[in-house]
Amino acid sequence: MLSTFSQKSLPFLKGSSSKVVRCLIVSQNRSYASEADNDLVVIGSGPGGYVAAIKAAQLGLKTVCVEKNETLGGTCLNVGCIPSKALLNNSHLYYMAAGKDLKTRGIEFESVKLNLDQMMGQKTKAVKALTGGIAHLFKQNKVTHVPGYGKISGPNEVTVVKSDGTEEKISTKNIMIATGSEVTPFPGIEIDEEKVVSSTGALSLKKVPEKMIVIGAGVIGVELGSVWQRLGAQVTCVEFLGHVGGMGIDMDVSKNFQRILQKQGLKFKLDTKVIGASIDGNNIKVSVEGVKNQKKEEIDCDTLLVCIGRRPYTNNIGLESVGLKADNRGRVEVNERFQTSVPSIFAIGDCIHGPMLAHKAEDEGILCVEGICGGAVHLDYNNVPSVIYTHPEVAWVGKNEEQLKEEGVEYKVGKFPLAANSRAKTNDDTDGFVKVLADKTTDRLLGCHFIGSVAGELINEAVLAMEYGASCEDIARVCHAHPTVSEALREANLMAYCGKPINF
Ligand SMILES: Cc1cc2nc3c(=O)[nH]c(=O)nc-3n(C[C@H](O)[C@H](O)[C@H](O)COP(=O)(O)OP(=O)(O)OC[C@H]3O[C@@H](n4cnc5c(N)ncnc54)[C@H](O)[C@@H]3O)c2cc1C
Repeated sequence: MLSTFSQKSLPFLKGSSSKVVRCLIVSQNRSYASEADNDLVVIGSGPGGYVAAIKAAQLGLKTVCVEKNETLGGTCLNVGCIPSKALLNNSHLYYMAAGKDLKTRGIEFESVKLNLDQMMGQKTKAVKALTGGIAHLFKQNKVTHVPGYGKISGPNEVTVVKSDGTEEKISTKNIMIATGSEVTPFPGIEIDEEKVVSSTGALSLKKVPEKMIVIGAGVIGVELGSVWQRLGAQVTCVEFLGHVGGMGIDMDVSKNFQRILQKQGLKFKLDTKVIGASIDGNNIKVSVEGVKNQKKEEIDCDTLLVCIGRRPYTNNIGLESVGLKADNRGRVEVNERFQTSVPSIFAIGDCIHGPMLAHKAEDEGILCVEGICGGAVHLDYNNVPSVIYTHPEVAWVGKNEEQLKEEGVEYKVGKFPLAANSRAKTNDDTDGFVKVLADKTTDRLLGCHFIGSVAGELINEAVLAMEYGASCEDIARVCHAHPTVSEALREANLMAYCGKPINF
């Protein structure tokens, strides 16, 4: 059925009117599909699922999206990207006002007071507006939202258990699993979301902790640690690895980043593992041990944030009913078209391989749907950017220096400090640099690593360049507006291409 449909190399009509595409899809489906009521049922409405559902509807597929939570938007909108960025932004503003930063800029206050309820209120408002926005987009695009717990009950059927216990069976030509991920528990440490919290609880603490310990100095750990440190907590991040910022970060960047965060007040215990924690009244004793020297120690806090990662949410979604099973890390296995071994069932986002990132889930959702409609499917995971939204931000795409060395690639480096960038200087925001890595012979950009206040925005220029196979010379010859921080990217490329930046 579907396998025949997808294998039949239908030229995908990029840029064609949706009407033409719709006709094509409808006629194709008529030839190959069963008598199902729907073309696609998406299980999960995170950034992967909701975007895929909208795209599918736009391409003319009759689409249903099943969501077990009360609100749409998944981890990202409810307890991930969006609320964390609201708190990061507002805690940064508070930190600037409460510290010396604004005074040195000639902005003086009599006093600065934190109203945590109000700050949380602004976060909730942003979340509500965006999750509500998806409901609106579903209506506008004619995606049917079915609330309830979705379970695969056949290759062409999803059974939804509603909140009142009733069941609805939905027949469909295709199923997309977009069930995302959940917090990885720490064995032996129970999360109560008040004193011992996961990232979810850390987004809604009722008061600023005095002492917070964060288990894990990866992306989410340093972001949420930064939030509470800026608001007044003494924060220590305990990290098993010898560096901060998680996997994929360039070591040069990581070291610099750690130094900047330490200057802001964050403390790190690297190469250290947590072995347990015990609660005694308001006090939590965390036992740690050096990874290299096995030195044991106990450290106290009143709030413990467990941030050791996330795991795919694939239990109890009916995989076994169709002969599918998750791999040893709980991920659904798919081929390059995001198709499982059951041809009518697809999976995307956090519940499959690859980095757990919202934009990766979105891209996979769109490509998977285009593939179902006969289009080409290709995602270059090397060009999926990563961003840490602290201040300054850290962002990267492509290979880091350690990876290039390991792969034996001959490369050159172009580096430009923000202290020499006119916009960063005028903004008095000069922490950081841009570092580009390029092929020594061809000058092709292989990686870009950025620390700076707007790194998360600027990295997209490097992503675009990498997608189009640009060389450092190509980027250096593009006119960049002045004064902007993006000129530092141009200068780093100039440095890599001819060895001589202009302003440094
Ligand atoms: C604190 C935090 C901050 C983050 N910040 C960023 C960031 O800045 N940038 C970034 O790119 N990523 C960030 N992430 C990661 C990002 O949230 C995830 O990568 C992204 O949400 C994955 O999208 P998804 O659609 O695969 O799954 P999810 O967003 O997890 O959505 C899955 C949805 O499926 C639903 N579901 C599951 N099972 C069923 C079922 N059986 N029936 C019905 N519904 C079901 C769930 O309720 C959920 O709504 C952050 C994560 C956290 C925790």
